[in-house]
Amino acid sequence: MKYATFSLASDVVPRLGVVRGDRMIDSAMLPATDWRPPSSLLDLIQQGPDAWRRMRELVERAPAGIGHPIAEIRWHAPIPRPTKNVFCLGRNYVAHAEEAARARGQEVKIPTIPVIFTKAPTTVTGPFDDIIAERSVTQQVDWEVELGAIVGKTGRNISRSDALDHVFGYTVINDVTARDLQQQHMQWFKGKSLDGFCPMGPVVVTADEFGDPQSKHVQTRVNGVVKQDASTAKMIFAVDVIIEWLSKGLTLDAGDVIATGTPEGVGMGRTPQEFLADGDVLETEVEGIGTLRNRIRDLT
Ligand code: MG
Repeated sequence: MKYATFSLASDVVPRLGVVRGDRMIDSAMLPATDWRPPSSLLDLIQQGPDAWRRMRELVERAPAGIGHPIAEIRWHAPIPRPTKNVFCLGRNYVAHAEEAARARGQEVKIPTIPVIFTKAPTTVTGPFDDIIAERSVTQQVDWEVELGAIVGKTGRNISRSDALDHVFGYTVINDVTARDLQQQHMQWFKGKSLDGFCPMGPVVVTADEFGDPQSKHVQTRVNGVVKQDASTAKMIFAVDVIIEWLSKGLTLDAGDVIATGTPEGVGMGRTPQEFLADGDVLETEVEGIGTLRNRIRDLT
């Protein structure tokens, strides 16, 4: 299943949809049974496996041609406002850890324990929304394509062997970063947490359909030029290991979002360094999920 959050021109509140071919199946249009689908993906995830099964059955029984042509809908982030900060991995690919250290004139340190930080929930924005670069705040806006994992089953102290059973599905995340702020504040949170700095989507592919999260191609293009091009096989800490570490003494709730780190090829690590400018079109893609396409728009 490919879940999405969408709206039509007349809608105030976005709602839950399922992508089937070139149509968006509208959860509100599914034939009524004794169970009604919730209106948001977060609600569906929180309702648990029985609701997921019922939803799947409704969609499988839905008549061909139901829903809206994809071209007519507006896309939103699958979870437009997570209930907590987005959990993020830093330096989770060796070549990225190397380029980041080089760019800062630091000794290369490959983590033996995951580096974890977060982005505020207000960073989350739609898969095709503009990214506003507020120039009184930052001059160094950079890209980071990442595989995102969405927690399905709440838990803590989750073992590696159980970890992937706690994943509802996967999405694409762009961990947009203000490098100047990341440096100035001596701690990553501020530079990672500007409004709209976490494009997400376009869909959440359920774990059963997505398959092995450690065998996916990830890519970033800026104005059509490839900047990042790697495989999730290169992660230092795989998704199951991340969940094991992150959940030690810390409850992961259904609907929590985990960004699993970015590979090499970010703007900061290039020679000369590259940062995004007004009008640049950023495409971040994960195999099996789709592509985020966001234009940079300066606010001066
Ligand atoms: Mg990142």
